[in-house]
Amino acid sequence: MDDTGVVYHQNGNGHHRLNGHHPVLVLNSNYEPLNVCNIRRAIVLVLNGKAEVLEEYDVMISSASDAFDAPSVIRLVYMIKRPYPRVKLCRREIFIRDNFTCQYCGIQTRDLTIDHIIPRSKNGPHTWENLVSACKQCNHRKGGKTLEEARLKLATTPREPRASRYYPIQRALNRQVNGDWLKFIPDYEPTIDSPRS
Ligand SMILES: [Zn+2]
Repeated sequence: MDDTGVVYHQNGNGHHRLNGHHPVLVLNSNYEPLNVCNIRRAIVLVLNGKAEVLEEYDVMISSASDAFDAPSVIRLVYMIKRPYPRVKLCRREIFIRDNFTCQYCGIQTRDLTIDHIIPRSKNGPHTWENLVSACKQCNHRKGGKTLEEARLKLATTPREPRASRYYPIQRALNRQVNGDWLKFIPDYEPTIDSPRS
């Protein structure tokens, strides 16, 4: 037992300190997935009456006075309000938005660069509307020119993509989706890391 009042897990070989190998899916009180936490945090929430256990791992947790199954999915008792999730503006998310396709010539490739439509040298901003995926040839051709100067046309008008409802926990979900979790994330699809054909 440590200062949180918990805890070690038991297996046939005795007691071991809990580690990060048992992530816990945290649901809002309306069952909307909120985040993924470690087992220690989940147990503290449950013991403090702030969450209830919906699914369990087949692993026993014990403290000095108690023993119970390790939670796998917990649900908060009170509704948490959070801002509408927005997709982080970064290279990877721009490639995903553009389906790994050069927005000038239409080639689909993993070998993409980011092009500023209004060049940085002309004070083009770092925004969803001014950044597109471009193959190296097109980016080179465009260089520090505007669209008109380079005589290039965009395939689509770039916009900020809508975040999926699972965006805030996507990274955690991509690492490990436990079988017990699937019914709580019914339309979840792992992040696309390659083009949709
Ligand atoms: Zn191109």
